[in-house]
Amino acid sequence: MARTKKEIDKERMYEKLMPSGLKAARAERAAAPAPGAELRAARARSQPHRVAVPALDSRRMAVVNVMEAAVLKKLNPVLERFSCCRCDRCKRDIVALALNKLPPRYRVVAEGQPLPELDQKENARVVMAMIEAVLKVRANPRH
Ligand SMILES: [Zn+2]
Repeated sequence: MARTKKEIDKERMYEKLMPSGLKAARAERAAAPAPGAELRAARARSQPHRVAVPALDSRRMAVVNVMEAAVLKKLNPVLERFSCCRCDRCKRDIVALALNKLPPRYRVVAEGQPLPELDQKENARVVMAMIEAVLKVRANPRH
């Protein structure tokens, strides 16, 4: 770092008055960060950085297909209503057939929280897809 003549004169005078104090002054200057380093530090401070929020980060989140959840919830009532076979194979076929007819609706939900409800139109669509699946499986069971 270049020093002005005034600074050098001041230092010389200081050296004459207090020879032992000069070393401390030089050490202090050496310890000070270089101008470039200071700028880099300022830049780093101004940049956005990740902030950990422990309460939120510790909450377990899951990706759920709300359509799938709705189909599974309605499975037993629909089977009862249509007196369809309730073996595992038929149940799985009905779920697969119904879900292939429905668009997926993925949501991120916190574990233990209730799933978002489907609207009336979506609910009707789920029931229709399930009825079609039940009729198909009942007519041609693979068990
Ligand atoms: Zn069956």
